Amino acid sequence: TVRRLRPHATTIFSEVTQLAVRYGAVNLGQGFPDTDGPPSMIEAAVRAMREGHNQYPPGTGVPELRHALVAHETAHTGLVHDPDTEVLVTVGATEAIAGAVLGLVEPHDEVAVIEPSYDSYAATVAMAGATRRPARMVRSGDRFRLDVDSLRAAFSPRTRAVLVNSPHNPTGAVLPREDLEQIAALCREFDAIAISDEVYEHLTYDDNEHVSIATLPGMSERTLRISSAGKMLNCTGWKIGWVTGPAGLIAGVRTAKQYLSYTAGTPLQLAVAHALSHEDEWIRALRVQMQDRRDQLVGILTGLGVDLAVTQGTYFLTADPRPLGVTDAASWCLELPEKVGVAAVPFAPFTDTYSAEWSHLVRFAFCKRPEVLAEAGRRLQGLA
Ligand code: PMP
Ligand code: GLN
Repeated sequence: TVRRLRPHATTIFSEVTQLAVRYGAVNLGQGFPDTDGPPSMIEAAVRAMREGHNQYPPGTGVPELRHALVAHETAHTGLVHDPDTEVLVTVGATEAIAGAVLGLVEPHDEVAVIEPSYDSYAATVAMAGATRRPARMVRSGDRFRLDVDSLRAAFSPRTRAVLVNSPHNPTGAVLPREDLEQIAALCREFDAIAISDEVYEHLTYDDNEHVSIATLPGMSERTLRISSAGKMLNCTGWKIGWVTGPAGLIAGVRTAKQYLSYTAGTPLQLAVAHALSHEDEWIRALRVQMQDRRDQLVGILTGLGVDLAVTQGTYFLTADPRPLGVTDAASWCLELPEKVGVAAVPFAPFTDTYSAEWSHLVRFAFCKRPEVLAEAGRRLQGLA
């Protein structure tokens, strides 16, 4: 492995999932749902295959999906993008993030990354050979906010981009409009772009509303808005994602994407297009269902004496297991599948510069059927 990728050798998700499989553990580590997306979407995929849509799609994505994406985005955010030049279908959000960084960031540029962050961000900046400048989130009462001063300190005249993620993995925070406005002000001041990972855009709970940074003043021309069918339609294994933004920036992402994967599965793109056009109700219902699952897992973990932050969005709960006598959260997570039959992921791999502030925390995913969460609860009793 090349030196710049050595710190990123194995993702925590594959490590924990392997342990979960080996020990038959309930996997509350890697975030994926255990029920399927809308039946009509699955039928549309099968139909597309039977009807012979099995060869390469156009490089930017099938027109049906690009049009459906634009309509869906306009309905939910008010943004209006041109389906031909301002939309790109990718192999999951992961490739959209990588394509944005590889296609738009020079090796002498800097990229601001807010810790803790989804693990692909740091690896992708490393692949581009650029410099990562860390900022951080902070706990504010029972939830997490952006530490605006840390982000200001991470910006410089060499900043090309900031990676933004709200709803936020792993903390479950939904950044309030004021925090996004501060990020936007820095982007405008330093003439930087925002690479905005919004894969959990529809999964916000209680009265928390998702705001896209692309909708703030002066930001539509400097934001790449990334999302994915995986989290929107319970099909993480399909790996259909996308990015929208101004044509000039999309062109850079497209250039990189052409040589990463060229294209993503044709029948799956057609099925996601069908779902975006016909399953808005299903997407709305998923939010209610996930909120119930959050509440179920909150009940289980609180009952054990674990300290929890409030989850405003995403699939994840932030847990502080120190009241259970846990001193090293990373080792605890690696032992948990064998000892108790439940898997969770530690925060440590989501951090680097600020790891000391986060390494005692653990992320539990609640995107599972109620009976599965209940079984995890029974097994976790073994900790008490
Ligand atoms: N960003 C975040 C914040 C995520 O949690 C994930 C995992 N869904 C991704 C990106 C990657 O998404 P995809 O599986 O569509 O590549
Ligand atoms: N996004 C999911 C998570 O954060 C899955 C990540 C992965 O498997 N790479 O758990």
